[in-house]
Amino acid sequence: ERQALGRLRRLPARLSSGEKLHLQANLELPAELALIAQSGASGIGLLRTEFLFINAETMPDEDSQAAIYSEIITAMAGDTTTIRVVDWGGEKHSEALNRAGLDRDGDNVNPALGVRGLRLLLRHPAILETQFAAILKASSAGPMRVMLPMVTTVPELREARDIYQRVARRLRRRGVKLGDSLPPLGIMVETPAAAIMGDALAQEAEFLAIGTNDLTMYTLAADRALADVASLYQPLHPAVLRLIQTVTEAALRQYRPISICGEIAGDPRVVPLLVGLGLRSFSMTASAVPRVKRRVRALSFEDCRRLAHRVMESPDVAEVLSLIDAFAAGG
Ligand code: PEP
Ligand code: MG
Repeated sequence: ERQALGRLRRLPARLSSGEKLHLQANLELPAELALIAQSGASGIGLLRTEFLFINAETMPDEDSQAAIYSEIITAMAGDTTTIRVVDWGGEKHSEALNRAGLDRDGDNVNPALGVRGLRLLLRHPAILETQFAAILKASSAGPMRVMLPMVTTVPELREARDIYQRVARRLRRRGVKLGDSLPPLGIMVETPAAAIMGDALAQEAEFLAIGTNDLTMYTLAADRALADVASLYQPLHPAVLRLIQTVTEAALRQYRPISICGEIAGDPRVVPLLVGLGLRSFSMTASAVPRVKRRVRALSFEDCRRLAHRVMESPDVAEVLSLIDAFAAGG
């Protein structure tokens, strides 16, 4: 089994009907780089940068961040690295932020609905400027993209993009060599508002990545970290699937790259459905890549499309699950 999965590493992630997929890795800690290299992932679809801040006593400065990003981009040896600027708040906390007096989630009744993700960065632009500068400096190390977490509105994206471009101009004035076009700036789609407004966001975001962990929480009003509502937290609930479908179709209509990077993107039983909905790019924990690759190599697009069609007519999650299980069992 291990050996067979090892051989898979060099095989392409192609459907039996020929379509090429991208299976990428999520990275939470640099220690996972070795695992990613062994997994056969074609790049990093989600680099969570919270590790830089979580245990730090002070904010990491521009150069120390740039060194870490460069190291990771270099290790990916020509495959793209997608760096997400820091996503604080909700269930994610930071000692450095706390000390800087910025982590005030404790005061909120609903931290997930408060100042988190991009909202927090736009209120404290110095953090975002430092991180953008570090990322841009590292961009000479190889192909990369920059991603914004927890976007809800078009103006938020514009505001972040203005800062991104301003930081780039400042670096150029300082003599830092940047390519003619900056690395693409894209968004996470993790709120129902972003999914519903996918057509508008796709006009201005250079790529989109669906984050089903948060999207599920916000759609079903069930906290992802609360055991009491764990049974309500269903990433395959038809309400979540409709949002995935809406934003995927909006992005495809405008030829914007769209990927998915929540936990379900690494579930071999779920991937056929996601392929059927039009997704071609999946980012997952590195250890899931071989199993997902093996699964997709046995799939035809037509079968995935038929599965998606039937699933999208399901009124409840139980029916979705049984259709998916029957498909996985070959039925
Ligand atoms: C998500 O919300 O689906 C996601 C990928 O981001 P995170 O799990 O880091 O919140
Ligand atoms: Mg998220």
